[in-house]
Amino acid sequence: VMLITMGVFWLLSIAMSIWMSRLTMRPILKSWGRQTEFVGNAAHELRTPLTIIQNKLELLLTKPNDKIIDQAESIAVANSESQRLQKLTQDLLALARSDSNTVQTNFESTQVANFLAYTVEPYTEIAASQGKQLELAPVEDFTATMDQNLIHQLMNILIDNAMKYSPQGSTITVSAKLTGRKWQLVVTDQGIGIKANERQRIFDRFYRVDSSRSRQTGGNGLGLSIANWIVSLHHGNIAVKANSPQGSQFVTTLPLNASTGLNRHDKSKD
Ligand code: ADP
Repeated sequence: VMLITMGVFWLLSIAMSIWMSRLTMRPILKSWGRQTEFVGNAAHELRTPLTIIQNKLELLLTKPNDKIIDQAESIAVANSESQRLQKLTQDLLALARSDSNTVQTNFESTQVANFLAYTVEPYTEIAASQGKQLELAPVEDFTATMDQNLIHQLMNILIDNAMKYSPQGSTITVSAKLTGRKWQLVVTDQGIGIKANERQRIFDRFYRVDSSRSRQTGGNGLGLSIANWIVSLHHGNIAVKANSPQGSQFVTTLPLNASTGLNRHDKSKD
């Protein structure tokens, strides 16, 4: 009886220690799993443009005596794929910095109306060159604390997406308003819209609703996860809803004084 009791205790203590170690290991295993998935996705995204560039270069090498004009198609494709690689590596670096919390922030008191006028202006010309209209709605006079470079990057992502997923002849509107101790930056488009069941997932790394369409427009599925990170560095939030009668509306809500509690960035939201 004694031997059996000892054996049962022994088994129980082994079971307990396995269970305890699983509990302590779980977050480590989870983050390790996330890292592995991230590296896998990144490698996959890098491989496609690299393979295309390699194929095009090999094609060029098979016809060394052709004039450049006759090789223009291959050169143009290799060039656009190398631009895609450049954008991808920039985005991957931004996310790596967000994971290691090593980004240097520079929060400044900013006159929002001036800042928006200055940042939206260059995109107006790009939109016009694509047959689309970009408008900045009148903004009331208020100041907010922000890292201007990061908010500029956020606007770049939202406006770029609004243009990518909208047809010619449509209008994209940027507006901002005060809501108590917070302010909202709103980017509205009349484009293809996002189904309700996709609206949460589009902020996930590498997630694209339609990957072939996104690829055609130069997308890599990282823009909105970077946007989400920038917003969380400012202790704000970002959400998307449907625009009526068609399109999407991205609403970013930021505190007027975003510089407080700087180091409490919550990575679980990325
Ligand atoms: P991508 O580089 O593919 O655009 P993002 O992370 O910026 O990556 O966006 C993720 C996905 O969300 C896009 O692939 C697209 O399917 C969808 N999306 C983002 N913005 C819009 C928009 N304004 N209208 C419609 N779909 C959008």
